[in-house]
Amino acid sequence: MNGKSGGALRLVLFGPPGVGKGTQAAVLQERRRIPHVSTGDMLRAAIRTGTPVGLQAKAIVERGELVPDALISALVGERLEGDDVRCGFILDGFPRTVTQAEFLDRALLARGMVLDRVINLTLPEEDIIDRLTGRRVCVRCGANYHLQLKPPRVVEACDVCCGPLSQRKDDSQEVIRDRLRVYGDWTAPVLEHYRGRGLLIEVDGRGAPGEVAERIGRALRKPAA
Ligand code: AMP
Repeated sequence: MNGKSGGALRLVLFGPPGVGKGTQAAVLQERRRIPHVSTGDMLRAAIRTGTPVGLQAKAIVERGELVPDALISALVGERLEGDDVRCGFILDGFPRTVTQAEFLDRALLARGMVLDRVINLTLPEEDIIDRLTGRRVCVRCGANYHLQLKPPRVVEACDVCCGPLSQRKDDSQEVIRDRLRVYGDWTAPVLEHYRGRGLLIEVDGRGAPGEVAERIGRALRKPAA
């Protein structure tokens, strides 16, 4: 099925860091009842709990560089074995290189799955920097906030679990520049991988999360270009 409410939907949410992929994935997860698979969240959880993958990834993630394709592809491959992703998923933060996109093609094929859509969220660079520098994350449950756009009800405490909020190390000004450069060099070329297949939809990421969610909903009802 292709984007109709209620059925399977296998989606990649694509776009630069800070464009709103995580926020929109959470909305889609709620509306469509399909899991949000975020490789950034998976790596941060591994780092928090000190697994071998976490130990290998920590310094790389903090510098805003990409962890090796083989490492992240193994994590995603394992995740795609889960029962919960059979009827759909929202991939956020993967694929980030052409090699990862090729891995995903093979992994889905091997499981008899196909991608329905790749949504490319777009935003001007100055808005990206504002969103990333204002972002705060709950240390305990990972919920996202923004100092101006989505402030918590109580200063510096999470609305969901009351945990303390902090800034991700990779959301500092210097690391943001590096992440955007990495996006341009390695990740933007992945768009070409999908463009020729009629899977790609461009969605304007400006405005409030609700407005962007509406745009995504409308885009999913239309056939891909
Ligand atoms: P994100 O939360 O998606 O911004 O990811 C945070 C960081 O995790 C990235 O800056 C990378 O260091 C690492 N990461 C997440 N996903 C990938 C991926 N698909 N390939 C390589 N590194 C990744």
